[in-house]
Amino acid sequence: MRLVLIGPPGAGKGTQAAVLSERLGVPHISTGDLFREHVTRRTPLGREARRYLDTGELVPDHVTSGMVRERLAQPDARHGFLLDGFPRTVPQARELATVLGAAGCALDAVLEFAAPDEVVVARLSDRGRPDDTEDVIRNRLRVYQRLTAPLLAHYAGILLTVDAVGPVEEVTERALDGLSDLQRRAG
Ligand code: ADP
Repeated sequence: MRLVLIGPPGAGKGTQAAVLSERLGVPHISTGDLFREHVTRRTPLGREARRYLDTGELVPDHVTSGMVRERLAQPDARHGFLLDGFPRTVPQARELATVLGAAGCALDAVLEFAAPDEVVVARLSDRGRPDDTEDVIRNRLRVYQRLTAPLLAHYAGILLTVDAVGPVEEVTERALDGLSDLQRRAG
C-alpha cells in the first residue's frame, strides 16, 4: 500500500503513522523526522534545513525532494510506504507522481487527518518540540492553510478524510475502516 498522510500540525499524523505503519506492514517515512535527524547529526542538509524548521517555514523543494527520492529508493519502500509530511505542496505532489510513475506505480490513497485549530494548538503546546512555540505553531498553521490545504483538491479522487478528534485507537480504526471501504470500492 502506498499512502500519503496529510493534516495540520498537531492533527496526530505522526502518531497515527507509527500505528498504521505497523498494522499495514509498510515503512513510515516522515520528512519532519528525517530533517530532525539531519539537524541532530549536523549534516550539511541539516544545517540548511534548520532555519526553516526553527521558523515553521517549508524547507526548499530542492533539498526536500532529493531527500525523499533517496528514501523512496530504499528497498523497504519498494512495495509500499506511508508518507508523513510529504508532499506538502502541489509541486511536491507532482514530483512524487513523477518518481512513482518512473517506477511504474502510483498512490493508493491520501488520508487527511482533520482537526479544528483549537484542538491542534492545544495538543502542540503539550508536546514541547523546539518548533512548538506559539509563534512557530501559528506560522506552521498558516503555511498549512496556504500551501498544503490545496493538496486536498489535488487528491480529491483518492482522498479519505478522517476525523482526528478522539482517542488515538478510535482515530486509527476510522482510518483503517476508511481504507477498507476505499479498497472495496476500487475493486
Ligand atoms: P508538523 O506536521 O507537526 O508541522 P513535521 O515534523 O511534519 O511537523 O514537520 C516539521 C518541519 O519540517 C516543517 O515545519 C518544515 O519546516 C519541515 N518539513 C517537513 N516536511 C516538509 C516538506 N515536505 N517540505 C518542506 N518542509 C518540510
